[in-house]
Amino acid sequence: MSARIIDGRALAASLRQTVAARVAALPYQPGLAVVLVGEDAASALYVRSKDRAAREAGILARTLRLPAETTEAALLAAIASLNADPVVDGILVQLPLPVGIDVARVIAAIDPAKDVDGFHPRNAGLLAAGRPGLVPCTPLGVMKLLAADKIAVAGKRALVLGRSAIVGRPLALLLLAADATVTVAHSRTRDLAAECRRAEILVAAIGRPEMVRGDWILPGATVIDVGINRLADGRLVGDVAFAEALPRAGAITPVPGGVGPMTIACLLLNTLQATCAQNGFSAPQFS
Ligand code: NAP
Repeated sequence: MSARIIDGRALAASLRQTVAARVAALPYQPGLAVVLVGEDAASALYVRSKDRAAREAGILARTLRLPAETTEAALLAAIASLNADPVVDGILVQLPLPVGIDVARVIAAIDPAKDVDGFHPRNAGLLAAGRPGLVPCTPLGVMKLLAADKIAVAGKRALVLGRSAIVGRPLALLLLAADATVTVAHSRTRDLAAECRRAEILVAAIGRPEMVRGDWILPGATVIDVGINRLADGRLVGDVAFAEALPRAGAITPVPGGVGPMTIACLLLNTLQATCAQNGFSAPQFS
């Protein structure tokens, strides 16, 4: 039997349409500022995609491009001015930042109400406390994929492979809030394969091409592959060996076309949420 493929592109397209319709109905156009420091080609590509997606959703997007030599003080000043700008509802600082800039200090300088990436310690704390706040886009996208595919989470054994502050950790908290029994695995976990084999929901977010083999997967499990890895031959693969996983899993996300498109759609959703919260508009509820 072959796993059902969870189509992230289709779900992201539908979420983007829903956000666009909601934005069109607002009395005020939401504004998103994306800050790009330096010339990193991959970051520039991500920023262009975010800018385009925001415009297509009717969001007033602008990219602030700063040279690679920008000092931390200059970047903090730019963020302070975006914090104070009433037409900016959301601020995103594209990572990674050039060496020498303290990322934690920069993220902490963003107004938490405008922190559409959900990385500010206040939003991270709200998530850890189980209270509403802005949630990081990739984990939010994973939860929306599970919900759209009608995968019951409550009571399930979920394994999150990876504990980064932007994916693994917040995702573990979201799964816990959805009543899963959550294990978080990382580079020091003993017998990773055995941990994976117990998981009814397995999320891989490690950045190791095809490390999760087919025989690590519990038959019928839902497999969400967050990894995006470029191989030497140019192919893009996930953290899961997709062809091996296909006959074992019950449902699986492809790479590309799974979690990736949801990340951008959730950025638009967060921008809408941030706009509503700051302007006293009723917050949209999307499943
Ligand atoms: P990260 O910050 O490098 O974190 C990687 C995590 O994986 C760490 O917790 C690390 O453990 C763990 N890990 C690394 N090697 C391992 C191994 N051999 N065995 C077990 N655990 C291991 O990466 P990230 O930012 O979370 O991103 C993870 C992947 O998701 C990357 O491929 C990235 O490109 C992708 N990504 C995709 C999207 C999307 O939109 N689809 C968004 C963000 C990231 P330690 O903590 O012990 O070091």
